Amino acid sequence: MAYSGCTGDWKWKREEFGLPFHYNKFEICEDCFAVSGPGELNFADARDEAPWTKKRRLLTDLLAEVDKKDSSFPLTELLGYHNQSFFEDTMHDDLLGLRGHMNGGALKELCDAGVFGPFSDIGAWDERLDAQLQAAFVHFNDWAADRFIQHSQPMFTHLQLSMKVKTREPVLKSKAKNSQVVSQWLADVAAAHQDDLYGKIRAMTLRAFDDFFHLVHATRFPNWKRILDWTEWIVTNRYDSLRSVTIP
Ligand SMILES: [Zn+2]
Repeated sequence: MAYSGCTGDWKWKREEFGLPFHYNKFEICEDCFAVSGPGELNFADARDEAPWTKKRRLLTDLLAEVDKKDSSFPLTELLGYHNQSFFEDTMHDDLLGLRGHMNGGALKELCDAGVFGPFSDIGAWDERLDAQLQAAFVHFNDWAADRFIQHSQPMFTHLQLSMKVKTREPVLKSKAKNSQVVSQWLADVAAAHQDDLYGKIRAMTLRAFDDFFHLVHATRFPNWKRILDWTEWIVTNRYDSLRSVTIP
């Protein structure tokens, strides 16, 4: 048996495998020399030419580092372990993670803008929001039916948006597949409502997430190197258009 890769969030991997570099250390990455503190290798430097992109950590360097420590690092003892076998877990990071925030935020904004129907100012905030969400849900189902897209997303409500109180950040609760379908629908809705700069950015962001999913789905692993190349292309492409509208 040989190790080929594992998925899991950073915290879990750090604790389970006792990795020497992580978010509480100055050097944060098994794979490169990015650092969390000041200096030219700071990970937050997102430019193409950022110094941390220039040099990858060799497996031998990592193992030498591990060797210096007293505690054991079970992961590095596995046959086949390589420090460059860390992949993104798209389902958790994206569909069940970031995308819930994006879907929730966009859905709430589009409801507030009255996109799905006229807005009533009578009644409590949650009742008014639920009326908008109900109209949005009808729109969503029609959209999905027209395209023969299956989903099992339950009715949108303020509780599905994780909003027990009015000031809570909206995060749409969805299963992974539903999260993807909802964002694809929202990308279409947002594309039809680009009334101002904010609306343009919202439409672009939703579309970029949707494109990204379709790309991952179409290529699948083990073509992950191609995915990364294409992802870079999408991000660069979207980022350039974003920059053209935000930076005068
Ligand atoms: Zn790195």
